[in-house]
Amino acid sequence: MSDNTQERDRVAELEAEVDRLREQVEEQREVLSILAAGQQSETLPDLGCPYCGEGTLVGSSGISWTQVECTACDFKEYL
Ligand SMILES: [Zn+2]
Repeated sequence: MSDNTQERDRVAELEAEVDRLREQVEEQREVLSILAAGQQSETLPDLGCPYCGEGTLVGSSGISWTQVECTACDFKEYL
């Protein structure tokens, strides 16, 4: 019986994880669209990192690309 309980707990855990990841993706999309908009004005808005919540996103760009990365974690993304 305890096996069934464990399995239910596991499923609940996974469902919670999926919800968390969905929220993260939503948040990332939002951040990227803000950054893409900020790109027009050549100054990136001062944004906190959606992943670690500690770092700040800083950008660097070339002729046809802009990359943002976090000062605290491994988050790195091309716009
Ligand atoms: Zn970060």
